[in-house]
Amino acid sequence: MTRLAAAIMVDALEPALAEAARAAEFGAELVEYRLDRFTSDLPAVTELVSRSPLPCIITVRPSWEGGHFAGSEADRIDVFRAACSGARRPAYLDVELAAWEKSATLRAAIEPLVDHPGQAKAIDTALILSSHDFEQRPPRLMQRIMAMADASACRVIKVAWQARSLRDNLEAFDIITQQYKPTIALCMGQFGQPARVLAKKFGALLTFAALDERKTTAPGQPTLNELKQLYRWDKQNRNTCVFGVIGYPVGHSLSPAIHNAGFDAIDYNGVYLPMPIPPEYEHFKATVITWLDMAPLHFGGASVTIPHKQNLLRFVEEQQGEIEPLAASIGAANTLTRRDDGSLYASNTDYAAALDAVCEPLSIAREELAGRKVAVIGAGGAARAIVAGFSAHNAQVTIYNRTPDRAHELASQFNAQAESLNALPDSDADVFINCTPIGMHPSVGVSPVTDDNLPRSWRDRPGDVVVFDTIYNPLETKLLQQAKSVGCRTIPGTEMFIRQAAAQFTLWTNQPAPLDVFRNVMLNALQ
Ligand code: NAP
Repeated sequence: MTRLAAAIMVDALEPALAEAARAAEFGAELVEYRLDRFTSDLPAVTELVSRSPLPCIITVRPSWEGGHFAGSEADRIDVFRAACSGARRPAYLDVELAAWEKSATLRAAIEPLVDHPGQAKAIDTALILSSHDFEQRPPRLMQRIMAMADASACRVIKVAWQARSLRDNLEAFDIITQQYKPTIALCMGQFGQPARVLAKKFGALLTFAALDERKTTAPGQPTLNELKQLYRWDKQNRNTCVFGVIGYPVGHSLSPAIHNAGFDAIDYNGVYLPMPIPPEYEHFKATVITWLDMAPLHFGGASVTIPHKQNLLRFVEEQQGEIEPLAASIGAANTLTRRDDGSLYASNTDYAAALDAVCEPLSIAREELAGRKVAVIGAGGAARAIVAGFSAHNAQVTIYNRTPDRAHELASQFNAQAESLNALPDSDADVFINCTPIGMHPSVGVSPVTDDNLPRSWRDRPGDVVVFDTIYNPLETKLLQQAKSVGCRTIPGTEMFIRQAAAQFTLWTNQPAPLDVFRNVMLNALQ
């Protein structure tokens, strides 16, 4: 069973013990004490291990292996001995493979402290041999692993390296699965999180987590709370299906919180991760192909955002998958689904989400949009999906854009009208949809509509008018405040966001999405 280990950088005895106690409360089952900077007070080292509230790993990482310890090997040996000399012993000692191979003195000193076949009697402490590369995937990685496998005193293999792309995680999963010995294989950096979050799915000995974001001991290390609450650690098993949000950057996406809460709500065996992929098509293709090809990963699909919405269409076309016709005419897709038969489906849930965000509060079917006048403000990516969706339902769409040529170009493709943004006060539309970033955080005080020149229908018949802002941060934009103040109905951008996520969720799980759960997660995150 894969254990959750809290990594604690030790500077003093009592604070370290207090952090270990907090880690236990958060659900950690093991604690790694990094003693790199805590080597001079040997009795305190002994006491730390003896009083530890959790079984512990003792590590004194030298600076040449990415740690902070700059002393001599003799000093390090004294620390390991002190750790093993108290009433209770550490569960593991972590020693770098490079040091182990280089120093017969180190081997001679450590071997009596750990359990191994040559030991006269059983000892509760096992040896982890480890290898770290903070720059790259190390050359001769497999040779390092085989050296650890061959070392008779070594009970656990540990390798960690800076991931070059999401593809490196797959090699970490392969290494864990080979099981020469119990294994920890981790990737570091922005691309390395899957190896950490999915360690349990692949049967690693453990994964490391920090108590909080400020206390990580390696780049890309998640917090205990993220693993337990966000990434559904307790629910994961080898059959867990993996989904994610592909974009660049994706660090601040709300989608992992929404989808993982949704999986929890319907008890679906899935986990949803951020999937950063650099912008070029070749990166997208290489990563998605390899993730799809690794059968034990159970990669079921992804939300796809900027800059990859066009890349998704091209990829699925090349793979001879199916493309939703309207996504093809929009020229962008935001959802990849791998169907049960393995075939791929690319679709766009943005336009459907916008249609539902407008139709549901009005209690009308999409067909009833026919003939309604819809003013779309903006002519970029979001506007394109929304114009396509409303035009496909025979609404009379007029696009108002700062750059009129863009509005005309979009209008000509989807049987709509085009106007300059300056003409907005003349609009008699029933529905207004803002698809520009005007009013988005942090520029919250601005609006595409000016107070002394409101659109005509707002002035003449505000009770018939619906104003929908696709911006969801802030929850109520200046535009919505203006509309509300004259009596128009308003719809916030959160309604589109949760609905596009809900449609994805249903494509992947074949179950209705818990919209209220999605809404609550989003509102909590934005408040
Ligand atoms: P985009 O492709 O960059 O297009 C932006 C559009 O806004 C362009 O038409 C641009 O006009 C116009 N614009 C930008 N700044 C302006 C300004 N200062 N004054 C007047 N017009 C301005 O962006 P996008 O991907 O379509 O996204 C637009 C907005 O949609 C985002 O802010 C986002 O909040 C929202 N969105 C929401 C959701 C959701 O789920 N709720 C989903 C997607 C997008 P020009 O053509 O003249 O440059």
